[in-house]
Amino acid sequence: MINRLINQLVQYAYEKSFLNPADQDYAVNGVLYLLRQDGFVPEEVDRPVDFFATMAGILRYAREKGILSGDSESESDNFEGKLMDCFLPRPAEINRRFHQLYRESPQQATNWFYDLSMATNYIKTERIKKNLTYQYVGKYAPLDITINLSKPEKDPKLIALGKKDSKEAEYPACALCMENVGYYGTADKAPRSNHRVVSLSLNGADNAWGFQYSPYSYFNEHCIVLKKIHEPMRVDEDTFCELIDFVNQFPHYLIGSNAGLPIVGGSILSHYHFQGGRYSFPIEKAAVKHLWFKRKVQIEVLDWPLSVVCVQGSNPNAVLDVVNRLFTAWKAYNLPELGIYAETEGEAHNTITPILKIVDGEYRFYVVLRNNLATPERPYGVFHPREAYFHIKKENIGLIEVMGLAVLPGRLKSELDQIKECLISGKDETAIPELAKHLPWIAELRTKGYDPENVDAFLRQEVGAVFESVLEDCGVFKRNDLPALIRFVEEALR
Ligand SMILES: [Zn+2]
Repeated sequence: MINRLINQLVQYAYEKSFLNPADQDYAVNGVLYLLRQDGFVPEEVDRPVDFFATMAGILRYAREKGILSGDSESESDNFEGKLMDCFLPRPAEINRRFHQLYRESPQQATNWFYDLSMATNYIKTERIKKNLTYQYVGKYAPLDITINLSKPEKDPKLIALGKKDSKEAEYPACALCMENVGYYGTADKAPRSNHRVVSLSLNGADNAWGFQYSPYSYFNEHCIVLKKIHEPMRVDEDTFCELIDFVNQFPHYLIGSNAGLPIVGGSILSHYHFQGGRYSFPIEKAAVKHLWFKRKVQIEVLDWPLSVVCVQGSNPNAVLDVVNRLFTAWKAYNLPELGIYAETEGEAHNTITPILKIVDGEYRFYVVLRNNLATPERPYGVFHPREAYFHIKKENIGLIEVMGLAVLPGRLKSELDQIKECLISGKDETAIPELAKHLPWIAELRTKGYDPENVDAFLRQEVGAVFESVLEDCGVFKRNDLPALIRFVEEALR
């Protein structure tokens, strides 16, 4: 039986074109060692191979034979990654092939690399399919909501600690380090045996960057562009040039960076990286509230829960000039009546989340104004989701959320099912421990009119409304403060 399964895996590797016939014996011997087999007999197998059924069979065998000790997901994932690695070309060969295809076209290169990352199950497509996704139509352009069942939730205070305490003693120092390539994985470190990163040069730094796909794939072709050296997140003029250079090389991809400060940055502050992909985000449909033209550059204030100034033009240097003016002005900007302070006690608070996409041959640069001040009244941040919303979203609001895609914790799925039961059958929510954090929200939901036949849709809308409010909390100029935002832009451009 195990011989048949190994044959299926070999056949699958051929079907997905990641095994060179000249490497077959080498690959099979690697698998035999891992599965403690003494020999191998080639067999004809049914085509096409069902990868997930085959891998499930192999992992079951490994557990039965005591090769795997328990049934923890991380142990199985680590082992599966190593099995797939037996068939995969070495990193240098993948890099060579990517750049060879790139000479044909950037799109061919990314298509091939993305398909490969899915074929090896490095991107866990069958888990991602279980995510619940829908659209929420509220006050702004429709938002995308995803309840993510493939990734654990992080606490913002632990993220902030990560930035301070990331000592080199950890190996790999973080989840984005190059040392992850080929790393077997542990109970709390992701399997990376089948992980591959290709090299990029950005803004004149030859091969200083790595390009990979996100194993969680929050949206189509979700990629990560990382500095090969483990250095902290930052946003400055160089960042903007690096983003421009990336879209010049991959014009079919959007790219953005999280802010480099705690609270307003993303979940990994210790390693300089960007995120991008091939996806149309809700922010791209935002209405324009105010518009200027300045030397062939169009500048827009968008109708969006966060404060966004969009700069568009065909000349990258002209666009960069305006972006830099906005950035410089914002870093020094104070407006005490709105609670905006550029710095307190020598600590800077103003930064931006920059996002860039080429649209109809023009650079469209989203400058999202952020401030990370925390006060005794708002210890998590004045422009951070208020604690009353943590039951839905506790993590930092990074560039993906900024663009209108909510990535909500997987626990919500079962919690919403339980809330639904309470709303329909009158079950007592206070008796369900997992719902403790939702109690004020449930009480509020009970006061709203909803169709008992359609509670699922009602709850989805209400979750969307909370996410919209979460984003509004992160806006430095609220919707009513548009005149102040317009004044800021005009002063910055003067
Ligand atoms: Zn790192």
